[in-house]
Amino acid sequence: MRCPICKQPADMTPANRFRPFCSERCQMVDLGTWVDEGYRVPGAAVEDREHPDDFKKKPLH
Ligand SMILES: [Zn+2]
Repeated sequence: MRCPICKQPADMTPANRFRPFCSERCQMVDLGTWVDEGYRVPGAAVEDREHPDDFKKKPLH
């Protein structure tokens, strides 16, 4: 059987924990979580940084 993602021959034995995919990479592609460009949203990183900055701005009385 071939990997449904990259169409390469995939190991379908229990030794391959990424079945029916050939590798973790193809499994991630199928799940849609491997799309690095879509995952790293610039706005998300900025938003993540705003919280510590906002905390620092507040005077610690
Ligand atoms: Zn594959």
